[in-house]
Amino acid sequence: MEYEELLKMAKSRIPKGSETTERFSIPKPVVVQSGKQTIVQNFNEICKTMRRDAKHVSKFLFKELAVPGSMKDGSLVLQGKFRKDIIEKRIDEYAKNFLYCLECGKADTNLQKTDRMYTLKCESCGAKKTLK
Ligand SMILES: [Zn+2]
Repeated sequence: MEYEELLKMAKSRIPKGSETTERFSIPKPVVVQSGKQTIVQNFNEICKTMRRDAKHVSKFLFKELAVPGSMKDGSLVLQGKFRKDIIEKRIDEYAKNFLYCLECGKADTNLQKTDRMYTLKCESCGAKKTLK
């Protein structure tokens, strides 16, 4: 118990979001507005860094931003106008849900699909989390 409390205290002293940025960071989205569309030019790079299926990431973004969109030459095209920070926030949210391990906070995780469920498995600490 004591050790856990110490750990909690130590964690609370670390500024939010800095735990995992030491050796892993998701590239910032390069966002370009074109008419009524918003294009994330380095979308493929972002997905590759997270080691996640671009289709899965884009589906999440379409849902979160409530707009349709498509992928084109490694870019993500959104049918709506969005500021860069909005896109960045949503990608962070994706990472929180489908990338970072809840136990150790590392990004060394695998996302496996089984039927309609996803299992997030951590390669670092072995923790498993089931996602819908
Ligand atoms: Zn872990």
